[in-house]
Amino acid sequence: MIKNVMFVAGTHGNETSGIQLIRNWQRNGCPYKYSTFELSTMLANEEAIVRNVRFVDEDLNRQFSLPKLANPELTLESQLAIDINARIGPKGESQYDLVVDIHNTTSHMGATLILPSSAPFYVSMARFVKQVLPEANILVEDEIPYEEHPYLCTLGKYGVMIEVGGQPQSVLREDVYQLTTLLAGTLVAFCESYNSNELSELAPCQAYRFIENIHFPLDSDGQRIAMIHHQLQDKDFVPLLPGQPIFKCFDGTEKVWEGNTEVYPHFINEAAYSKQHVAFATADSCLL
Ligand SMILES: [Zn+2]
Repeated sequence: MIKNVMFVAGTHGNETSGIQLIRNWQRNGCPYKYSTFELSTMLANEEAIVRNVRFVDEDLNRQFSLPKLANPELTLESQLAIDINARIGPKGESQYDLVVDIHNTTSHMGATLILPSSAPFYVSMARFVKQVLPEANILVEDEIPYEEHPYLCTLGKYGVMIEVGGQPQSVLREDVYQLTTLLAGTLVAFCESYNSNELSELAPCQAYRFIENIHFPLDSDGQRIAMIHHQLQDKDFVPLLPGQPIFKCFDGTEKVWEGNTEVYPHFINEAAYSKQHVAFATADSCLL
């Protein structure tokens, strides 16, 4: 039984769709019908929202591993994580059955539901979402156990992230806002159906499972020698085949995908990962 659900946004202060959605729900109420659980809302990093930045000192959405919560640093986000853990955790014993954390990406990932686990609850959620919203992408990040993830959503007994794009940082696009609203509403409907035991007949669905991050090629001074190839740009979740170009080098040459199998690229040219020189992430296709 899902009794308490927390919708969070503003974990990154310049990802506007979720922030606007939470403000609208706080002002007008959630527009989707539910009666079997309590729904709460929260803006996570108010200081980053005011400053219109992703974070003040460091990424809030990397502060929620148990070791980090046990040994906080003197940064704004590390201290904020302790507060949030007290409010909606504590991690491992949360009063919230489900935490939904809403994000934007500058990559063209459409409406993506990120699942930090493939336990049966998440499989049910994925199948329900794909049935109601077939254009949604399901991205599974179960390369480490749920509780080892540093994500804010893992404070909940269950936790997921909504990731919608492409939208530039600090910009609000209507199409991206509407997709965010649709996916959030679908999760409200899922909780209602889950509580009513109406989920047993759901068919397996297609999903993507994270493999690895691919970095931009650098020279010996740490400077980039290439950019995302135009044939890869905006092709999130489109199969990338061995031999297809991924980088256009500034000397005019190309670098191709040298993997042995096709992969599904995502977070292609994500602005927030540029500092770490992450060019894109790969996934393989799976059935959930
Ligand atoms: Zn984010």
